[in-house]
Amino acid sequence: MFKKKQTPQSKLILFISLLFVLFYNYTFFKNTLVFYPAISENIGFLLSLAVVLFAATSLVLTLFSSKWTTKPLIIIILLISSQTSYFMNTYHVIIDDTMIRNTFQTDMKESMDLFSIQQLIYLLVLGIIPSYFVYTIPLDYRGKGREFLSRIKQVGLLSLIILLTLFIFSKNYASFFREHKPLRYSVNPTFWIYSLGNYMSKTFSAADQEVTPSGLDAKVNKKHSQLPKLVIMVVGEAVRADHLSFNGYERETTPLLKKEDIINFPNLFSCGTSTAVSVPCMFSKYGRENYSYKKGIQNENVLDVLNHTNEISVLWLENNSDSKGVAIRVPYKWYKNTFYNTKCYEDECRDEGMLVGLDKFIQEQRNKDILIVLHQMGNHGPAYYKRYPKAFEKYTPTCQTNQLEQCTQEEISNAYDNAILFTDDFLSQTIQLLKEHNTTHQTAMIYMSDHGESLGENGLYLHGMPYFMAPDAQKNVAALMWFDASLRKTLNIQNLNSDAAYSHDNLFHTLLGLFEVETEVYQKELDILNIKK
Ligand SMILES: [Zn+2]
Repeated sequence: MFKKKQTPQSKLILFISLLFVLFYNYTFFKNTLVFYPAISENIGFLLSLAVVLFAATSLVLTLFSSKWTTKPLIIIILLISSQTSYFMNTYHVIIDDTMIRNTFQTDMKESMDLFSIQQLIYLLVLGIIPSYFVYTIPLDYRGKGREFLSRIKQVGLLSLIILLTLFIFSKNYASFFREHKPLRYSVNPTFWIYSLGNYMSKTFSAADQEVTPSGLDAKVNKKHSQLPKLVIMVVGEAVRADHLSFNGYERETTPLLKKEDIINFPNLFSCGTSTAVSVPCMFSKYGRENYSYKKGIQNENVLDVLNHTNEISVLWLENNSDSKGVAIRVPYKWYKNTFYNTKCYEDECRDEGMLVGLDKFIQEQRNKDILIVLHQMGNHGPAYYKRYPKAFEKYTPTCQTNQLEQCTQEEISNAYDNAILFTDDFLSQTIQLLKEHNTTHQTAMIYMSDHGESLGENGLYLHGMPYFMAPDAQKNVAALMWFDASLRKTLNIQNLNSDAAYSHDNLFHTLLGLFEVETEVYQKELDILNIKK
């Protein structure tokens, strides 16, 4: 009996893993070399990264290998990784769970627009050719017992290699894991496999949650102007009210907004002291007293109510972390990558990138009312010094580390205020964009920060203190509105008392009122703009 020479699957797995290290991780090594240049003291560490990458990929493949799964699994991973390589190398995107969600939600037309010759070459060279090799190679299965034993041996050996390498270079890995977290996001294929798992677990756990509809009766009833409305709602990040010059701060932190007809709300308080609480809460119908995480995800929010009218186009652009579940049922785009965001520089995708292309979106909505939500990176701490381009470094010296306790309070405030200057520029650009549309629309901008920030007062930093004990610095948030002349007139804005006490509780009803939406969930008395005429 003749037998073709057969390869044990363990060998195939090791070989494929080597291919992954050599040909599928260009972006990972390129990004890593920025922080760990190939100088003699880094060479050992860089080589060890390749070893860990190799061992980790082999480990994952080994864990899922069996007589029936090894080949199809490797082929699927090769095909997908050829594409993730293409997108990471070309567009510098990160294949995380939101990106996967975006990919599934993008309709075919949009995906075809992106298809290029280069992408086909990636598919052929990194996908189809190695897959064909895997498909045709005869594998040697040596019976259940022996295969099991060999797998145990391989898993043990690979784990040992990983642990040993991490141990030998522990100093480098400590900084690698702590300070350069994003580097891991470009590891191919382990990161996208992890993201896929993450996406599926999030989707299925969300699918278990019954979402109760809200305001199904909502309809637009325009009593005043017949022009469509264009509203841009900016959800700010970590800007406390008392650092705005509008609120008497001794520094001029809003020089550009000062030139506009801004309505300032000095006494507006947040729903929570963290993004995860405040963002879903401010868009929910529950005020701070009644809000809970569960109610937030189990009930539709104001964006859904606006959506139910079928007369308002809603769009959420994300440049923070994610929408915290608020934008799950409305069009959503993630701007923390160079694929969508054309304003990524000095190591950060800037908020102003979200304004690029909005003109086109606005024109496409024809005569519909429009609400665009821009979720900003804003003053996200602790690395305030990274939140603005060099040109905005007006106050110096600045705290140049995320270890805030190593800086003086002044250095922290300097960096924090420079970041506000950059938001001032961003909001001013947003207003200029709205002005370009005010012959065809009534336009408005609403800006509200999600929570405030402690900057070292009484040894407190950042935010997230339990609400009842948090200082006002974390709760009294920056809040501004701007309306074009026509809307100011329609709203009788001169009668507005902006100094009164307001909170995130008002947002839900103010948005409904602004769009003149009639629904049972609208409460007139909570609408800031329901001004007695
Ligand atoms: Zn926040």
